[in-house]
Parts: sequence; C-alpha cells; structure tokens
Amino acid sequence: MRIDILTTFPEMFAIQPPAALGVSIPGRAARAGLVEIVATNIRDFAANKHQKTDDRPFGGGPGMVMMCQPLWDAVAHAEAADTVSPPRPCTRILLTPQGVPLTQRLVEDLATRPRLLLIAGHYEGVDERVIERLAPLEISIGDYVLSGGELAAMVLIDALVRLIPGALGDEESSLADSFSTTPQDPRPLLDCPHYTRPRDWEGASVPEILLSGDHARIARWRLEQRLARTQARRPDLLAPWPTAAPSSHPNPGVESPVSDGEALP
Ligand code: SAM
Repeated sequence: MRIDILTTFPEMFAIQPPAALGVSIPGRAARAGLVEIVATNIRDFAANKHQKTDDRPFGGGPGMVMMCQPLWDAVAHAEAADTVSPPRPCTRILLTPQGVPLTQRLVEDLATRPRLLLIAGHYEGVDERVIERLAPLEISIGDYVLSGGELAAMVLIDALVRLIPGALGDEESSLADSFSTTPQDPRPLLDCPHYTRPRDWEGASVPEILLSGDHARIARWRLEQRLARTQARRPDLLAPWPTAAPSSHPNPGVESPVSDGEALP
C-alpha cells in the first residue's frame, strides 16, 4: 500500500530519521515495505516567485486560505508518481473538521485500498473550488479544530497501518481491539481489561480466572467484560443489535463512499 501526503510540513512524516510515523508499528511496517509513506511539499508546486501556498480570503476576514493552483498541481504530481506502472488509482482524502467522522469501519475500508492521497489543510482551510474539483472524501478526526491536517493524517495512517497484514506481531493482534469486528461477531465492542505481572500490586490482585489456565473460561470472561464495558461506557455501539439498550448517540458507521473527483491531466 502507498500513502501520499500533501502538506507544507513534509518533515513531520519522516521515516528516517524517524518522526512520529518512523517509530513503533508504522515505522516497522514502513521499513518492512508493507506501506510506503511519501510526503510531498505543496510549496514545491507554487507557481509564484515566493512559493506562496496561501492568500487572503475574498470577502475579507481573518486568516489565510490555501490556494487552488499549488494544491492541484501537487495532486497531479503525486498521483502520477508511483513505484508500479501504471500508477495505482488513488483515493483522495481531505482532512477537515467538516468531514465524516473517522471510525474503525472507515479505517478498515481504507486499509483495503491500494493507494491513498491525504491532503493536510492549514490556516482557514482550502479554497472551495479546488475541493470541488478534486472531490476528495472529507474526513474529520473529531469535533475540535487542529492547526493543520498533519496530525489528523497521522492519526489516520497509524490506525490503518495496524490493519495491514503483517504489521502487527501475533501477540499484538488487532482482532480484540476496541471497535474491531469479525464475521463471527459483528458487534464493535470495547476491549476487555488487561493485567500483567506482578499478580499482586499494592494490595490489588489480578482476577483469579486469568490465573486458572482454563482458556475457554478465560475467553468467556473476556467477552463478558467487553460486553459489560461497552454497555456501561458506549451503549451507542450496541444500538444496532436488538438485545442492546437504545442509544442516544448512534454511530452510523461508514456510509460515505469515496466520490470520483475530476481526473487530473
Ligand atoms: N476554518 C476551518 C473550519 O472551521 O472548518 C478550520 C481550519 S483548521 C485551523 C486548518 C486545517 O486543519 C484544516 O484545513 C484541516 O486540514 C485540519 N483540521 C483541523 N481540525 C481537524 C479535524 N478535526 N479533523 C481533520 N482535520 C482537521
């Protein structure tokens, strides 16, 4: 899988020497060739002598707006560049607080795509005309405003790299992680509590069942814990299942197919 990021801060995505994605599981996956992470500086495509990527907003008001031309040309360049020929089709994504919420379902969907192109905005955002032309999938990582799309892009990349086969060791399998589902159990439950040595820590001991060696009982206990936690903390996750309490915060999941943006020259 290849992930391109269009940004004015490409150094934030360095694998070597490592920045945030160069360490831990994403760093290991990148070094193992499971994912190729390529950051492109939008500034390099600015057709003006000061390499400006932003300008003042029409209509006045505070802040700056990212201009159409540098971003459009950067997308054309990134999409044409691939290590395989012909270049794989790209799913264009704009990180924006106005996008669909990022959920595990959406991450699972994106993890199956051969190429993603992530656009990190800055300032007041991106000129609406280039968004309309590119028609990216617009994704938000939460109802708050970041200074730029880079951290949001990293959150998305980290979440999906762990789903690429081979990225996690067996001992780190993601199948029981919170929100994960399997064909056998489609409920997006929260994870169960975990314990490690010592057995007793300052008067607090590990639940006896985990020391029993009875794997079937332990599996049942873990499932009960997952259900109880989900019911207590996130009943909205159980809402689609008839046995669960109705939720005031339904999670509609992913109903946001990637639209086909205008093809670049
Ligand atoms: N004026 C914009 C608005 O209110 O919708 C916010 C712009 S924000 C200061 C600058 C950039 O940060 C955005 O263009 C986007 O790329 C990124 N960003 C901020 N919050 C985000 C969020 N919750 N999820 C994803 N990206 C976000």
